[in-house]
Amino acid sequence: MTAKNEISYALADIGIGNILYDEPMSRHASLCVGGNVGALVFVESEKELIRIVRRLNEREIKFIAVGNLTNIIVRDSGYRGVMLLMKQLREINCASTSEGEYCITAQAGVTLSMLVNYAATKELEGMEFCAGIPGSVGGAVWMNAGAYGKEIKDIIKTISLLDSCGVKKTLQREEISFGYRTSGLPPESIILNAEFKLKKGQQEQIKGEISEIIKRRQEKHPLNFPNAGSIFKNLPGQPAGRLIEEMGLKGTSCNDAEVSLKHANFIVNKGKATASDVLKLIAVIQAKAEKERGINLETEVVIVGED
Ligand SMILES: Cc1cc2nc3c(=O)[nH]c(=O)nc-3n(C[C@H](O)[C@H](O)[C@H](O)COP(=O)(O)OP(=O)(O)OC[C@H]3O[C@@H](n4cnc5c(N)ncnc54)[C@H](O)[C@@H]3O)c2cc1C
Repeated sequence: MTAKNEISYALADIGIGNILYDEPMSRHASLCVGGNVGALVFVESEKELIRIVRRLNEREIKFIAVGNLTNIIVRDSGYRGVMLLMKQLREINCASTSEGEYCITAQAGVTLSMLVNYAATKELEGMEFCAGIPGSVGGAVWMNAGAYGKEIKDIIKTISLLDSCGVKKTLQREEISFGYRTSGLPPESIILNAEFKLKKGQQEQIKGEISEIIKRRQEKHPLNFPNAGSIFKNLPGQPAGRLIEEMGLKGTSCNDAEVSLKHANFIVNKGKATASDVLKLIAVIQAKAEKERGINLETEVVIVGED
C-alpha cells in the first residue's frame, strides 16, 4: 500500500477535519524547502489529537508534531508518516494566585509573538526575550528556544503532553531534562500546552524591551529571505556564526541556498533552493569546521525524512 492509502485508510472513520495528502513541505516551512509528507493533518482539538495518535499507534504509522515549521527541514525524499500541525490549538489565558504568582497558560499552537504581546497587555514581564522568535509554544518548549541569555526553561512552570501512547500527562518543570536547544522529552511526545510563571511589571517598560529586541533582530538577521533561524548550535563560548564567518564561508552557496552575507549562521533560500541544496551546504560547513578546526558543528535545525 502507498503511504497515502495506508494513512487515509487508518484515519478514515475517526472524524478528522482537514488533511492534505502527499503535501510538499516547501509550501509550509519558513525556509520554503522540503519534500512531501504522507499526510499533513491540521489538528483542531486535543480530543481529535488523542483519537489520531491512538489510531496511528494501532496501525504502526509514524508521526511527528510540528508548530510553525521555523526550525525544521524535511528531506526532499519526504517523510512517509503523518505530520500533525498544531497551529490551530490557540487558547491562552492568565491566572494569579493569592501568593502573588502570575501564570499564563498557552496551547501548543499559540505563536510566541501572540504570547509576548499577551503578557505585555497583562503587564507581566519575563517573556520579552521571545520577541521576534517566529515559532509556536510547542516548538519553543520542544527546542528549549532561547535568546539573549534566557531560555524557555527559565519561565516554565508545568507542561501538558500526550505520551507516545496517546495518554495525557502533566509534568512539573523539575521533571523535564531541559538542555541547550532541547527539552529532552521522550520522542513522539506531543506538547499540548505550557504554563509560564511571570512577574508583575510595567507595561511601558515591557513594550520598550520588546521593541528594542525586535529592532536588534531586524538589524542582525537576514529576514528578507526565507530562512530557518540558526542552522548550527553555538559552541561553548563561541557563536557558530562567528566561526563560519572566520572560515570565510559567508556567501558560499549551493544553487539557491546561500550562507547569509548578513549572519553566517543563517542559510537563506534565494529562490528555488531545495532541502538537498541546504543539506549539502550544511555538510560543506561541517566538513570545513572539522578539517580546519577539529570542531564538530551540530545542527540546531531539526532534520527529518527518509535519507
Ligand atoms: C528568523 C528566525 C529567527 C529565529 N530565532 C531564534 C532564536 O533566537 N532562538 C531560538 O531558540 N530559535 C530561533 N529560531 C528557531 C525557531 O523559531 C524556534 O526553535 C522555535 O521555537 C521553533 O518553533 P516552531 O513552532 O516553528 O517549531 P517547528 O519548526 O515546527 O518544530 C521544531 C521541532 O519542535 C517539534 N515540535 C513542534 N511543536 C511540537 C509539539 N507541539 N509537540 C512536540 N514537538 C513539537 C518538532 O517536531 C521539531 O522537532 C528562529 C527561526 C527563524 C526563522
